[in-house]
Amino acid sequence: MEAQDASLAEAGERRIDWAMRSMPVLRAVAARFEATRPLEGLRIAACLHVTAETAVLVGALKAGGAAIALAASNPLSTQDDVAAALRTYDIAVHARAGVDRDTYYRHINEALDIAPDLVLDDGCDLVNTLHTERVELLDGVSGGCEETTTGIIRLRQMAAEQALRFPMVAVNDTRTKRMFDNRYGTGQSTLDGIVRATNTLIAGRTVVVAGFGFCGRGVAERARGQGARVIVTEIDPVKALDASLQGYEVLPMSEAARTGDLFVTVTGNRDVIRGEHLAEMKDGAILANAGHFDVEIDVRALEGMAHDVHLGVRPHTDEYVLADGRRLLLLAEGRLVNLTAAEGHPAAVMDMSFSAQALAVAWLAAERARLAPGVYDVPADIDAEVARLKLAAAGIAIDALTPVQAEYLRSWRLGS
Ligand code: NAD
Ligand code: SAH
Repeated sequence: MEAQDASLAEAGERRIDWAMRSMPVLRAVAARFEATRPLEGLRIAACLHVTAETAVLVGALKAGGAAIALAASNPLSTQDDVAAALRTYDIAVHARAGVDRDTYYRHINEALDIAPDLVLDDGCDLVNTLHTERVELLDGVSGGCEETTTGIIRLRQMAAEQALRFPMVAVNDTRTKRMFDNRYGTGQSTLDGIVRATNTLIAGRTVVVAGFGFCGRGVAERARGQGARVIVTEIDPVKALDASLQGYEVLPMSEAARTGDLFVTVTGNRDVIRGEHLAEMKDGAILANAGHFDVEIDVRALEGMAHDVHLGVRPHTDEYVLADGRRLLLLAEGRLVNLTAAEGHPAAVMDMSFSAQALAVAWLAAERARLAPGVYDVPADIDAEVARLKLAAAGIAIDALTPVQAEYLRSWRLGS
């Protein structure tokens, strides 16, 4: 190993150790896996953000007996020092920060070369590549887990079209993932990324949040908490009403575009901010995406409208100058701002998502022979166990049902 790689690996190791301190549940799962070896002899191809928190997950799976090949689930999100550290732990990591699209898919293909028994995905790119380019491997795959909302939408569509060839577990849909990772994780790390990239003041600014789902709610809450005036845009009338009743102003993007200082897309949809919206924006408006890939903000339209482009005016910040001199600032090339300009969700949050993920992998390893192709929920007891362990680690006690209460909840004969 080159001296430079060795120092990179050392920095990565320190980062992983730091993350591990805030992941007591995953540490407990890893210890259990080490004793019971639920993944003995299995090969896993994983496509996840290569971060310190993912390294802790991979360590738990390895302790359970698995051999793992890891590719990144985003071209910009890899922490190179963590990747270097993982290689010294005998994990095949195919990832580097700042790669182009072709290299990103080459890395996914290289991870698939392990000929996996199980797969882990975050956005469905690996599963998609398996079903389109690497069909010769499909017979060997007996199941997998999907980490995020958009990945599960795609898997459900594949299942509906009878295209999905093995069972996939919807880790995102556990309460311990969606309620905390998508909401508090995205809320904090998105603002973290925006502030690291621009050093902008949030207080007193108008922040437009596109999408009021689990992630959007988190971003809106945290922006409001820092003193921003928050506007929400939605296409779902119930979500829009919810945002309104929580005191947010709700507007169509065509109107919000004129007043926003800072725009955050978290919809999982494409073309949410389009040329017609960009044309209305104020000088200095900041554009950030924390939803899915680089399609939520129409970057091609922005490039087409720009008379001048200043790349890298700040780290992860590109300035597009319009014909009349207005400047629009695009963060992280329109890709996930929280994993590109910051470090993704804090380890304390990923502790829950990745413990659910690790326990779901072990469940799948045990049950895969009897599962038909399709999308499966994580068993409810795994969800409850993750929450119980997290509460115990925080020293928080809760009440238990008395026998009379349990009976009351089961009965319909008793009147009021
Ligand atoms: P969700 O389904 O709970 O919310 C998405 C919301 O966007 C919905 O309310 C929907 O009505 C709304 N929406 C759709 N199209 C819209 C449009 N054109 N304009 C305005 N609103 C629109 O999903 P979620 O769990 O909040 O996830 C959102 C996205 O973020 C997904 O792509 C998910 O994969 C991703 N995600 C990112 C992170 C991260 O770390 N950055 C974390 C978790 C999830
Ligand atoms: N691959 C797609 C979709 C990613 S969605 C894309 O890059 O656009 C974001 C997912 O990243 C979430 O489901 C969340 O669980 C995960 N994530 C957030 N912070 C993370 C971290 N610190 N380490 C690993 N994964 C993280």
